[in-house]
Amino acid sequence: MTDPEFGAPAGKRALIVVDVQNDFCEGGSLAVAGGAQAASDISAYLAGKPEYDLVVATRDAHIDPGAHFSDTPDFIDSWPRHCVVGTPGQDFHPGLTFRDFDGVFDKGNYEAAYSGFEGSNAEGRGLDEYLAESGVTDVDVCGIATDYCVRATAQDAAMLGYVTTVLTDLTAAVAPDRLDAAWDALADSGVALGTSSEA
Ligand SMILES: [Zn+2]
Repeated sequence: MTDPEFGAPAGKRALIVVDVQNDFCEGGSLAVAGGAQAASDISAYLAGKPEYDLVVATRDAHIDPGAHFSDTPDFIDSWPRHCVVGTPGQDFHPGLTFRDFDGVFDKGNYEAAYSGFEGSNAEGRGLDEYLAESGVTDVDVCGIATDYCVRATAQDAAMLGYVTTVLTDLTAAVAPDRLDAAWDALADSGVALGTSSEA
């Protein structure tokens, strides 16, 4: 596709599916209400073949993340054990039936990592490097949790120069009562808030 105004090739668009894992959905060790619904809604959205050049996923992948885990978590900076590598909780949720990802980026082996941009794929490449080398300029972000990993991933994407939109209807929040603060922070970071029906 050619940009009619500048004659330069338009950039590519990617969807980033953040942390749709068993431990973040109902029945998991750090369950987010609406997580399973987000998983099936994302699957339905992708089954409708939206126009993305790439679809990538991120996963929390903890081995020993230090103070990120606590027996007395505050649910702000410390959390119950979750998404430990080698446990079923770390797997994608079964409601996420789409698995044809162009890349899966794991993060948080030995420390807290909320942003997918802290992750790397099986070849050890970071998400920014991968997207940039693929010619991606625009990203949509969905997944779990709206107010933590979706937010951090979208803010990093915008900071790195990607035109970034959060598909708000395809997310689930840890603290729905504090979502307004998350939306404000995203808007302040230059992230657009949209929905899957507009994307
Ligand atoms: Zn974690």
